[in-house]
Amino acid sequence: MTDMPYYSTRSDRSEPGVSSSYAVLRGTAPDGGLYVPAEIPALEPDWGFLATLSYKRLAYEILKLYFTDYSEEELRAGIDFAYDGKFNHPDITPVVKESGAFFLELFHGKTLAFKDVALSLLPHLMKAAAEKHGVTDEITILTATSGDTGKAALEGFRDMENMSIIVFYPEKGVSSAQKMQMLTQEGKNTYVVGVRGNFDDAQRGVKEIFNRKTENRFLSSANSINIGRLAPQIVYYFHAYLKLCGEGEVAPGEKINFTVPTGNFGNILAGYYAKEMGLPVNRLVCASNQNNVLSDFFNTGKYDRNRSLVKTCSPSMDILVSSNLERLVYALTGGRRTAGLMRELDESGRYELDLQSRAFAGEFLTEEETRDSIREVFENGYLIDTHTAVAYGAYKKYRDKNGDKHKNVVVATASPYKFAEAVVPAINRQYDHQVLGAAGAVRALARISGIPIPYQISQLNFMPILHNTVCDAADMGKVVDSIINRER
Ligand SMILES: *Cc1c(COP(=O)(O)O)cnc(C)c1O
Repeated sequence: MTDMPYYSTRSDRSEPGVSSSYAVLRGTAPDGGLYVPAEIPALEPDWGFLATLSYKRLAYEILKLYFTDYSEEELRAGIDFAYDGKFNHPDITPVVKESGAFFLELFHGKTLAFKDVALSLLPHLMKAAAEKHGVTDEITILTATSGDTGKAALEGFRDMENMSIIVFYPEKGVSSAQKMQMLTQEGKNTYVVGVRGNFDDAQRGVKEIFNRKTENRFLSSANSINIGRLAPQIVYYFHAYLKLCGEGEVAPGEKINFTVPTGNFGNILAGYYAKEMGLPVNRLVCASNQNNVLSDFFNTGKYDRNRSLVKTCSPSMDILVSSNLERLVYALTGGRRTAGLMRELDESGRYELDLQSRAFAGEFLTEEETRDSIREVFENGYLIDTHTAVAYGAYKKYRDKNGDKHKNVVVATASPYKFAEAVVPAINRQYDHQVLGAAGAVRALARISGIPIPYQISQLNFMPILHNTVCDAADMGKVVDSIINRER
């Protein structure tokens, strides 16, 4: 097979592309754009054959189409490393039928959120890429997190040789469990820094650090702007579809919908790539919380971040600048137009597009509606977290408006135990989270639901806090410098 070149979303392709390993290593393109493959590869729709594959085999069949300059051994070793023993379910990403809906459970990894699926593989891809490109400087991974990427990336990169990782999180913008998971992170190459600001501030700070020069140090990103994060997420869309075919819930070739709780637009974009590869997808429903920039975009064609960010009970979606949307804009309009629109976004905070894509729909949920969704599903015997609840409720709105009869899969992105303080009062109004506190909410959730507390959550009470740096968004660059100098 010939190598697939990758281009920046802001390029007109007059310059040659880069290899997939280079795109993984760099994270973002020098012109500020994101790397995309020259074309989205097709997967032979041999549903009979594909249905016989394990998650790992399926992952290989899909990833080899994207990471064409990796050897078979490198990819297989990476996939083994990522999925052997790190997920507590044999299906890795099981689909369950509950409360009259299908849920694709993506939270069976080490840190209890969907970020684990890609972040268990990315460090391996990056290490192999560094070897291919003769990078001998230490690689520092810089990551901004809305809560879940941070922990998953820290776990993925901890104690990797010749690499270190610095995670910036909004100090007051994550759940107690998310924060404790990060502050107790072990590993001699891990750094966790609170930012006085929101996720968008942290993400902007990281982008600025990438744009300056850092000597003797190779900087890269573990955010979903890295193509090494995106591609592994395509796998579970296919896996879920094949599972539903195997169980006779869906006929091979029948189109279905996926509803994805969305923030930075990484997860749902992987669903779009799966659709473009040939997966029979009718609609991707983009579910937003009250920070409904994206659902507005899909309903009006106008992207407008000129509003204040609100803190919600689904903090991993408290985002106004969804980086990965740039890849969709590119797919719909090409590089030249994307470069112009992104300049507009930088300058005025908005842009407008004549949205012709019928692949997407957008809906959003208020806080009250999110709690109602959790309660409704719980009363039907299943417990979901706040983000999954946004998707569940958004799909109902979409279906009621459009009368869409396709089957739907709700993408379940986190364990309810990561957001116990919000989940408990939603299912039982007697509980007040301020009275309960974080640990009390976890215990109450176990009592009410009968679902055992995952060890990743119960052990948090016994682990020492190892990170306590907090800074202003404007000082993130200085913090990175001091960490790098200390390491030397
Ligand atoms: C990150 C995250 C999301 C949003 O995913 P994006 O890829 O950023 O759109 C939704 N739910 C949870 C639990 C998350 O951690």
